[in-house]
Amino acid sequence: MQQLTFLGKNRVDWREVAEPTLQSEREAIVRPFVAARCDGDSLFLFHNYRKAMPLGVNLHYLDPKVLDAFGNPPLQPPFGVGHEAIGEVTEIGSAVKNVKQGDVVVVPWAISCGKCQPCYQQLPANCSRNGKKTLISAYGFGAGTGGFGGMVSDKIWIPFADAMLVKIPEGIDPVHCASLSDNISDAYRSVGPQLDKFPEAPVLIFGGNAKSIGLYAAALAVAKGSVQVDYVDDNLERLTIAARVGANPIELRKRQKVDTLSGALRKDGYPIAVDASGSVSKLAFAIQNLAPGGTATGVAFYVKKRNSLPLWEMYLKSATLHVGISHSRRDIPNVFPLIQSKKFQPEKITTMLTDWSDAPKAYLEQTTKLVVFRERLNQN
Ligand SMILES: [Zn+2]
Ligand SMILES: [Zn+2]
Repeated sequence: MQQLTFLGKNRVDWREVAEPTLQSEREAIVRPFVAARCDGDSLFLFHNYRKAMPLGVNLHYLDPKVLDAFGNPPLQPPFGVGHEAIGEVTEIGSAVKNVKQGDVVVVPWAISCGKCQPCYQQLPANCSRNGKKTLISAYGFGAGTGGFGGMVSDKIWIPFADAMLVKIPEGIDPVHCASLSDNISDAYRSVGPQLDKFPEAPVLIFGGNAKSIGLYAAALAVAKGSVQVDYVDDNLERLTIAARVGANPIELRKRQKVDTLSGALRKDGYPIAVDASGSVSKLAFAIQNLAPGGTATGVAFYVKKRNSLPLWEMYLKSATLHVGISHSRRDIPNVFPLIQSKKFQPEKITTMLTDWSDAPKAYLEQTTKLVVFRERLNQN
C-alpha cells in the first residue's frame, strides 16, 4: 500500500509498504480519508534535527531527555508521516464491540490500551501497556515511537480498537476536524476544563511554534464563552484567523520584547493563559499575567536544558502551571458538542485544503493547517 513517507529534511513522498493485518481479536484496520498535518511535524520536516538535537544535547543547550522521546538517534528516516486522521473502519477483530465496519472514526495520535493505570487515570498518551518499550507510542514518528506507521496511508493498524477509536457523531464534517487526533484536543485541554472552572474567564494566548494549537485554543475559548480572548502573535496570517474566530488579536513584532505588551493586556490578569509559542520567556510572561488562582498551560515543546520560570510569582498567586503531552483520546468527545452547535468551527483554522494525491507537495508547504482528503469508500 502507499504511505506518505518522510525521507529527510524537506523530502516527503509516497512509498510502497506492507499492508497491516489483524493480529488479534481486539484490533481494527482503518482507511483514512481525511488527514491533517500536526504542528509538531515541523520539527523534523523543515529542520536538520538529526545533527542539531545530539549537538544541542552535547553542548548542554538541550535537555538530554529530548532524545528519549523520539529515539536515539532521533527520528531516523524513512518513516511514515502523519498522526491526525479520520477514516472508515474496514476490518475488525472478533472481540471489538465499540465500532463496526463502515463507522467513521477519529484515530488518536497515541496508542492506548484503555486498561492500564495511566489509561484509567485519563492519561492515555502515557499508556504503559501499548506493546512497545518506547517512552511514547504513537503514529507518524518512526521507530522511536514504536513504528506504528503514518496516517497518510491506505490502512492504519489499530492495536486496541475499543479503547482508541472514537466514532464521529451526526452533524460533523470530517474534513473540518481531522486535527481532533491531536492539535484540536491538545488546544481543548488548555482552555476547556479551565473555563468550566472559571466560566466566562478572560484568556491570554501566545501563538507561535504550535501554529494551529494556539488558534484552536483561541476559537475553543470563544466557543466556551470566554468574555475576552487576547491572542498574541507575530504572524499576520494567524492574527487574522484569531480575529475571524472572535479573539482579540495583539501583534508582537519579531524582535519586540514581550514585556512591552503590558499596556495592551488586562490589569487584573487572566485566570487562564496558554503558551503555544514554545518560547520560555513568553510562557514566563503569561504566568506573570495570571490572576490569582490562575492556570497557565504550555502546549509547545520546551527542550532547552535551562528554563527560568517566575516561581515566586506563582507562589504568591497560587498559580498552576501545566505542561504535558496531549491526551487526545480523553478530550475528543468533549469537543464534539462544540462543533455540533457550530460555536466552534475548526474549518476556520484550515489554511490549505488539498487532494490526498497532492500530499507529498502539500506536506512541505509553510502553512498553518494543512488538510488532505479523498473520497470515502462507503457513502452511507
Ligand atoms: Zn502531533
Ligand atoms: Zn493503557
